[in-house]
Amino acid sequence: MAARPAPYLDDLNPAQREAVEALDGPVLMLAGAGTGKTKALTARIVHLLRMGKARPNEILAVTFTNKAAREMKLRVGRMLGEVAEGMPWMGTFHSLSVKILRRHAELVGLKSNFTILDTDDQIRLLKQLIVAANIDEKRWPARMLAGMIDGWKNRALTPERVPSSEASGYAHRGTELYAQYQERLRTLNACDFGDLLLHCVVIFQAHEDVLAQYQRWFRYILVDEYQDTNVAQYLWLRLLAQGHRNICCVGDDDQSIYGWRGAEVGNILRFEKDFPGAHVVRLEQNYRSTPHILAAASGVIAGNAGRLGKTLWTDVKEGEKVRLIGHWDGEEEARWIGEEIEALQRGRRGLDPVGLDGQAILVRASHQMRAFEDRFLTIGLPYRVIGGPRFYERQEIRDAMAYFRLAVSPEDDLAFERVVNVPKRGLGDKAQADIQRTARQAGVALHEGARELVANGGIGGKGAGQLRAFVEGIDRWHWFVSNTHNPVEIDRYSERLVTLRVEREARLEQLAVLAEGDPLAEDLRLDLSRLASRIAVCKRDLDILDGSHMLLAEMILEESGYTEMWQNDKTPEAPGRLENLKELIKALEQFDNLQGFLEHVALIMDNETEEAGEKVSIMTLHAAKGLEFPVVFLPGWEDGLFPSQRSMDESGLKGLEEERRLAYVGITRAEELCTISFASNRRVYGQWQSQLPSRFIDELPQAHVEVLTPPGLYGGGFGAAAPFAVSSAMDERVSKADVYNSPGWKRMQDRVQTRGVAQPQEARGMVIDATAVSAFSEGDRVFHRKFGYGIVTGIEGDKLEIDFSKAGIKKVVAGFIVAAED
Ligand code: ATP
Ligand code: MG
Repeated sequence: MAARPAPYLDDLNPAQREAVEALDGPVLMLAGAGTGKTKALTARIVHLLRMGKARPNEILAVTFTNKAAREMKLRVGRMLGEVAEGMPWMGTFHSLSVKILRRHAELVGLKSNFTILDTDDQIRLLKQLIVAANIDEKRWPARMLAGMIDGWKNRALTPERVPSSEASGYAHRGTELYAQYQERLRTLNACDFGDLLLHCVVIFQAHEDVLAQYQRWFRYILVDEYQDTNVAQYLWLRLLAQGHRNICCVGDDDQSIYGWRGAEVGNILRFEKDFPGAHVVRLEQNYRSTPHILAAASGVIAGNAGRLGKTLWTDVKEGEKVRLIGHWDGEEEARWIGEEIEALQRGRRGLDPVGLDGQAILVRASHQMRAFEDRFLTIGLPYRVIGGPRFYERQEIRDAMAYFRLAVSPEDDLAFERVVNVPKRGLGDKAQADIQRTARQAGVALHEGARELVANGGIGGKGAGQLRAFVEGIDRWHWFVSNTHNPVEIDRYSERLVTLRVEREARLEQLAVLAEGDPLAEDLRLDLSRLASRIAVCKRDLDILDGSHMLLAEMILEESGYTEMWQNDKTPEAPGRLENLKELIKALEQFDNLQGFLEHVALIMDNETEEAGEKVSIMTLHAAKGLEFPVVFLPGWEDGLFPSQRSMDESGLKGLEEERRLAYVGITRAEELCTISFASNRRVYGQWQSQLPSRFIDELPQAHVEVLTPPGLYGGGFGAAAPFAVSSAMDERVSKADVYNSPGWKRMQDRVQTRGVAQPQEARGMVIDATAVSAFSEGDRVFHRKFGYGIVTGIEGDKLEIDFSKAGIKKVVAGFIVAAED
C-alpha cells in the first residue's frame, strides 16, 4: 500500500508533511490563519487509512461546524480517490456526543429517544422552576440562570461539583435550581445542548468499561479549531485519548473567539503538559491571502497582549490593498456593497470576474443581516444566510417541530405545552392547569394526564372533545413513527387497500347497470367518491409505513388542524408562514426519518440550506471560522457594534481582545480582496444611533489600506484625523469639521437625542454653514449621548479627548458632543 503514489502528500510543504507523517502519539499543530492546518489534518486522515494504520471507523475527527465536517468528508473521499469502505466518524463535539449518548442514555437516567431542547424550551422550563421557588423572576431573570448553568456545563460541572464559592450566585439558589432543572430534564426525557457533552463526560468518568470500549474504538483522534474547545470538550478528548495518546490537535490562539461560551485558550498550553513528548509542529507559510491582507490582519492582532506569537509569510502576488469606506447609514452600506458585488461579478478593477459563491459578507451581529437581505431581495441578488438558526426560529416552524416531537416522543411535555391549544382547541388556562395537575398527581407525562382527564370527565364543554382528538392524534402519529417498515402492518394495509379497490370495482359495475337518472345511481356515486377518498387515505398511510416521513409530517400538520389554522388566517404574514411550512417539509427530504431531522435541527447551530445556483454568503464572523472567499466584505466596523458595546464596557481587556481576534478571523477569510466599511448612523433595534468608526480601523496599518470615497460621498482622511467619511448628496467639497459644526448637523443630532430617530434623507439635504470651528477647549464640561458627562482633556483635529466620568477616557468626534449646562 505504501508503495502506491500518494498525491495528497505532494501538495504539502515540509512542515505540513511532518505533521501528517507523525502518525502515532500526540501531535499539536499550532499555526496562523490560512497556513493549511485543516488541509494537513485532512491529509492525515487519508494517510492513516492509506498506511493501513486504522480502518475508517477507528478514526474520530472533530470539526467546529457540521458544514466543516461535510467538507472534510468530501475532501477525504476525493483524496482517497476510490470508494472507501465506510467513513471516519466526523462531526462536531455535539453531533458526536449525541451518537454516543443515544447508546448509553440509560446510564444518566434517560431513554435513548431523548429530546434535545432549544434555548426557548430551556428558558420556559427554568421560569417554571423559578416561579415554583418563589423567586422574583424580574429581579433574577431566567436567562441569567440559564447562562450560569451553561457556564457550569461548559466546565463539566454537575450540580454536586459546582464549587461552593459560586453558590452565592442567583439569589443563593443557583446550584439548587440547577439540580432541580437537571431532575426535571430527566423526567421529561430531555437534555439541553450543554448536557450532550456533560453526560458523555460523566459516563466516561463513571463507567470504565464504556470508556475503554470507545478508547479501543477510536484509535486515532483529530481535532480542528482546537483553540475553541471548552473544559468539557477538553475532558471529553482527554478521556478518549488517554490510552493510546494518538491525538492530533490543530489550532491558532489568535483565532480563539468563543471565550464567551467557555472556550479556554489555555487548553493549547495544557496540551503539552497532559501529553508530554507531544510533537509540536509550526506552520508559517500562508497560502490563502495576499500580502496586503495578511499585513492588515497581522497589524490588528498585534494589539493583543499575551499571544503565543507567530510569523506568517506568503509568496502570493501583492494584489490589492484592504479597502476602507464610510457610509451615511446601514442602508447605504448595503446598497453600496450590493453594487460592488455585482460589479465584481462582472469583472472590473482589472480583476477577473468573481462568482457570487466567491463573495461573502461577514457581520459582527446578526441584526446587521436584515439590511443586506432586504437590499438583495430588492435587486434580485441571490444570497444565502449561513450560521443563524433563523429559519428554524420562526414561530410556525417551531410549532410544527413541536408536533413532530410529539409524534416521535409523546411524553415530550414542552412540545405538548407549546401546541396543546395551537390551533385553538377551547383549552384555556384553567383546562391547561387541570391537565398539568392530573399529570403531576399520577406521575405521568402531560399527554397521559390529558387522556386521564378526558376519561374521568374532568374537563367539560367544547374542549373535552377537542382534547380527546388531540390526544388520539398524538397516539396515531406515534403509532406511525413506531410502525414504519413493520412488515405485519404493511401487509395489513396492503390487504385493506386491495379490499377497497375490489369494492370500488363492484360499485362501478353496479353503476354501469343502472340507467342514467335512476335515483339509486346518485347514492352509488356518493358511495364511490367516499370510497375514493378512503382509498387515497389508505394509500397514503401505506406510503408512510413504507417510510415516507414527508407524508407523515404533512399528515400531522393537516390532522392537527395546524395547516388549516394558517389557511384561515387573514393576516398578511399567513401566506409566508404557509410557504415556510412547505419549506420545512422540503427540508425533511434529506433525512431518513423524523427523528434524524429533529436531531439535525437541534444541532443546527451552523444551519445551512443549500439550493442550486451561485449565491453571496451572509454570515456572522463567528460562523466564518475556517472558511475562505476570494472577496470578503466586513461591514459595520463601528465602536459599540464592532467591538461590541459589551466588550467596551467591560473592565479589563479580555472582551476587547476577543473582539480583536474576531477582526483577525474576519480579515484572514479573504483571499484577494477585503473591504471594511462603517456607517455614521445605524438603526439598532428600532433606534437611530450615530456611530463612531471602530477603534480597530485606527489599528489597521496605513500602508496596506486604501481609503475609498465613492462618488457623491465625502471621504475623510486616514489616521489621526479618523478615517471618517460623511456621505451627503451635496456637490460642494466641505471639510468634516464644517459638517460636524454646522447647524444642520447639530439639528440632526438633536433629533436623534430627543426623539431617538433621524431621517437620513432629511439630514442629507441639510445646509452646511461652513464657518463654525470647534467650539470646545480643554477643561470644558461636555455631554455625549452614549458616554454621558465628561471633561475635555485634549483636542486633536476634529476629535476631542474626553475623560468621561463613567466611561473613562475616550476620543470622540466634536460633532457628537454638546456643551454641558452647569
Ligand atoms: P484557518 O486557520 O483559517 O482555519 P487553515 O490553517 O486551516 O486556516 P486551510 O484552510 O487548511 O488553512 O488552508 C488555507 C488555503 O491554503 C486553502 O485554500 C488550502 O488549499 C491552501 N493550502 C494549504 N496548504 C497548501 C500547500 N502546501 N500548498 C498549496 N496550497 C495550500
Ligand atoms: Mg482551518
